[in-house]
Parts: sequence; C-alpha cells; structure tokens
Amino acid sequence: MTVKNAVLILNLMIACKTRVKKELCEPGILNAKSDLSADIYLLLQTVSQIDIDNLEILRKQLVPECRHPKKMHDICKGQKYCKACNADL
Ligand SMILES: [Zn+2]
Repeated sequence: MTVKNAVLILNLMIACKTRVKKELCEPGILNAKSDLSADIYLLLQTVSQIDIDNLEILRKQLVPECRHPKKMHDICKGQKYCKACNADL
C-alpha cells in the first residue's frame, strides 16, 4: 500500500468517525433511542472523539505539513505538490 492510499483510507475513517460523533451529539437522540442512558451516549461521544484525534495524529505523521516556499511548488497532472518534500498541496 502506498502512503497516498493509506492517507485516503485515513481520510475516509476520519470522515466516518466524525459523522458518527455528529449523530451521537444530535439533540433529541436520547428521546429517539431511550433504551440507552445518557452516560452511554456521553461515553460513545468521548470514544469517538478519541478515535478521531488518534487518526488525525497518524495522518499528520504520514502527511507532514509543508513549510517550503511557494517557488518550490509545482503542478503535476492537475495536482499541486511540493518539489522539496513531495507533499500534495
Ligand atoms: Zn514541501
């Protein structure tokens, strides 16, 4: 697996976890799903946020922030990238 594919998978996982957390935080969800307690929802929200934070940390390791000057940037096949660190921009 290339790093680019790993980053794509991470992006999908982060988007999925973010969507789940957003649904858990929607007002009225406790009324709609009254068989679960508020404590369980709070725990699920916390666990979802921890997962998102951990995935973001992993993503930052794979996609370091480019700090090179714009003169080092170029475009290849429509994708802007940095010639110095090869990061997609
Ligand atoms: Zn760079």
